[in-house]
Amino acid sequence: MGVIEGRYGPNIVITSLDKVFNWSRSRSMWPITFGLACCAIEMMATSASRFDLDRLGIFFRPTPRQSDVMLVSGTVTIKMAERIKRLYEQMPEPKYVISMGSCANSGGPYWEYGYHVVKGVDLIIPVDVYVPGCPPRPEALIDGFLQLRNKIERDTLAKKA
Ligand code: SF4
Repeated sequence: MGVIEGRYGPNIVITSLDKVFNWSRSRSMWPITFGLACCAIEMMATSASRFDLDRLGIFFRPTPRQSDVMLVSGTVTIKMAERIKRLYEQMPEPKYVISMGSCANSGGPYWEYGYHVVKGVDLIIPVDVYVPGCPPRPEALIDGFLQLRNKIERDTLAKKA
């Protein structure tokens, strides 16, 4: 690329497929719609008019088959763990996971005595970004999406294949 860089005038951009794909993925993250507990209220507030996730290209989808981001917002009970894993497996590659809030990150207030709570969603699916808080504010969730955007931009096709 270095040899032909700048030889074809200002209107021609030379780049790699990796960069184009990752740039388009990072600007159109489509999370699957589901909430597990109180953190989901903050998730809904983040996508409503005041914070407006749409302006970042983030649109919630009602099916895993159209989603590339799983946003785990709330308490992951042992009963729900299997459903979460199944939904994750139904999402096409490349796919990413944001863990939102203390419960999803580590079990939260239930980490010691919550016999019914998974102590972190990363015990059942791989997590790309952790958003701390109980619950995290919408600004924190937006920051989580921006961190994921940076991560997707650095990704390679080979890694996610
Ligand atoms: S982290 Fe806090 S706000 Fe979020 S689901 Fe758990 S208890 Fe509720």
